[in-house]
Amino acid sequence: MLEAVADSGFEYVDLELARDAALLEELGSSRGGPRAIASYHFSRPATKALVRQRLEKGLASGAIAKVAMPCENAAQSVMLAELAGEVSVSRRSFVLIGMGAQGQLTRVCASGMRSELVYACLPGNEAAPGQLDVRTQVNISKPGSVILGLIGHPVSHSVSKPMQEAALRSVGLTGIYLPLDIPPERFNRRLVATLFNIGFQGLNVTIPNKQRAYRSCDIRNPSAEATAAVNTIHMRRGKIVGENTDLKGFNQLITLKKVQLKNARILVVGAGGAARAVCKVCNDGGAEIVISARRAKAASDLSKACGASRTPYSSLGAIQSMFDVMVNTTPIGTKGTKVELSSLPEEAIKHSRVFIDLVYNPSTTPSMAAARKHGRAAHGGLEMLVRQGEEAFRIWTDKTPDVSKMRRAARKALEP
Ligand code: NAP
Repeated sequence: MLEAVADSGFEYVDLELARDAALLEELGSSRGGPRAIASYHFSRPATKALVRQRLEKGLASGAIAKVAMPCENAAQSVMLAELAGEVSVSRRSFVLIGMGAQGQLTRVCASGMRSELVYACLPGNEAAPGQLDVRTQVNISKPGSVILGLIGHPVSHSVSKPMQEAALRSVGLTGIYLPLDIPPERFNRRLVATLFNIGFQGLNVTIPNKQRAYRSCDIRNPSAEATAAVNTIHMRRGKIVGENTDLKGFNQLITLKKVQLKNARILVVGAGGAARAVCKVCNDGGAEIVISARRAKAASDLSKACGASRTPYSSLGAIQSMFDVMVNTTPIGTKGTKVELSSLPEEAIKHSRVFIDLVYNPSTTPSMAAARKHGRAAHGGLEMLVRQGEEAFRIWTDKTPDVSKMRRAARKALEP
């Protein structure tokens, strides 16, 4: 069969490093005919040292070495990208592939990783998990195509992909937006720099990495400094620049919903990255802020930063005084998470005239439903998502997207 293939006019033949060692040797010693791709497929995620070892073996056995590995999170595919950077220095021919949705960045950024080949499929005929169809692969490989992504953990609830891809289409750009699941312990400056080195033009950051992102940036613009949290990253002259577009997003949400801040009493639940933006907007608007978060230290740090007072998280269910607005900045109620069916304590919700949930998936969270049951106004986080996304898009591309198209795409993705 190999002889038949060798005479058939194919340029390459892909052989298994372990199983087809004899064929690889035969093909290597033959003159003319196809060149051998020496492939190794891991059945589970492997360490960088092990992948390097297989790659070296492939380089010694074929014209091109290929290693494919399933990726459970995007940090594992960034590891492959780092390895590609190290191997490409010696100008040898290789292909490194991360399998599955979280490995997709290795396909999208194949040329940025200096991979010799990229494998694509006919539409609807995925031959390996995470493979792109040939048209998408060709389009995103063209000069001018824009690669964007979201770093978070989890990211499965996010609708930023359809929303930002609608933004790209609305300004006539081709590109792709990848949700990257990066566990917090794997998030660092080097990982962010690698993503930009292999072709990313912009990144969003979400739960729970916004404060880590702030620390990883070389330059922080005023919105990032004002909140000590970063949700939007881009690269300028080799420097990682951090911004916080949640500020604008929350500002526009409350303006649209006609929520008055001046002298309002506002209860903010949670003290993470998003809470920092909420508190900054409320503070600037002249509100009196009370923070309640399960980690006392985080609540204390944030209350000091914005001159707020605190109430213990454990006593939220016993609140008796009235608030004008209550804002949920925790993930409680987010679809697809352990806290999907949870609600904030009803007693606190009942004691707030307006309830705002930053969670946008589902459109009506259990806490929002509880607020409405008690006759309170309740607003979800979709408009904030759209507005922070609009601002991030402008930062990355210098173009103004069609917000109504972004909103429509996000709403459609949220439909049950
Ligand atoms: P973050 O920095 O990780 O902060 C999350 C906060 O929630 C922390 O105070 C955390 O407390 C608390 N928390 C987490 N799980 C909790 C639980 N089960 N019970 C009580 N408290 C809990 O995340 P973030 O970036 O601020 O995002 C928070 C939420 O807001 C996410 O759901 C995100 O999707 C949403 N958000 C929406 C928008 C929008 O545009 N609509 C924008 C920003 C954020 P610990 O410190 O104790 O973990």
